[in-house]
Amino acid sequence: MNRHGWSRTTVYAVGAMALLATATGCSGGGDSGAASAALVAPGGTTAPAGSAAPQQGAATPPPSASPAPAEGDAAAWAKWHLTPLPPAPPAPADKPVKLQRTGQVPVFSEVRTADKVVFVTIDDGAEKDPKFVEMLTDLKVPVSMFLTRDIVKDDYGYFKRLQALGNHVHNHTVDHAQLSKVTPEKQKSEVCDAQAALTQQYGTPPLLFRPPYGDGANTPALNTAVQQCGPRAIVLWRESMQIHDMQYQAADKKLRPGDIVLAHFRGPKDLKGETMTQMFGELLARIQEQGFAVARLEDYIAAPAG
Ligand SMILES: [Zn+2]
Repeated sequence: MNRHGWSRTTVYAVGAMALLATATGCSGGGDSGAASAALVAPGGTTAPAGSAAPQQGAATPPPSASPAPAEGDAAAWAKWHLTPLPPAPPAPADKPVKLQRTGQVPVFSEVRTADKVVFVTIDDGAEKDPKFVEMLTDLKVPVSMFLTRDIVKDDYGYFKRLQALGNHVHNHTVDHAQLSKVTPEKQKSEVCDAQAALTQQYGTPPLLFRPPYGDGANTPALNTAVQQCGPRAIVLWRESMQIHDMQYQAADKKLRPGDIVLAHFRGPKDLKGETMTQMFGELLARIQEQGFAVARLEDYIAAPAG
């Protein structure tokens, strides 16, 4: 037993990185990846509903009723003009991150693992594109959602459809406040009020918290607020998806096993005309090019024992 197992992650070692990441986290959809546009898969766009669907029967059902292809089905990836990712390995029995029920919460931006996997997290919740539900239904790529209450409250149901695919909902504040700029009391309400709303809507208390922009992640005030409100870890990121490419914190601009990747629920208004599914397809292409699978972050985290 290692009751401090979570300390084997990058706990508290991310301060400088978080500052670096502040420039991109949850801010505008700046495109740092223009040079990579040539790497886009042929077409590089989402398939029109039905027209490029794999052979699934004579009828052409509406998109929401399309039977999901089998896992690893190359036709499902072809439908989205993508090369299949390698399958993720089985979830580790001994979780590299072990969360405690009480006390200070760890802050991490990667998970220690030798598996050639990365973890995809998607923030805020502004764009609610039904095609993205179809895409995840087809591809079965796991994602973790960090939702901001006031950005999702007009359509909580959209994210229930993604939750129904096995994806977890986590806490990303009430209204996307920059937490280091507000009082400890306000920090607490930002975390606790979002925790209450997300718990009520999604049926389970969010286990993880992410501060907007990564701001304040390593401050005692925010750690205290998170402890008081229920999440048991603060999760940052190593890469931030823009429109065509990721911004990397690593100088060599390469993914590493266990990296946590940040993306956003964004649509054409924030993506220079690209859609959520186009952006996500490009994210998957960047991961595929580097030979990584996408694993489910929660499969690498042991929640506190009851
Ligand atoms: Zn955000």
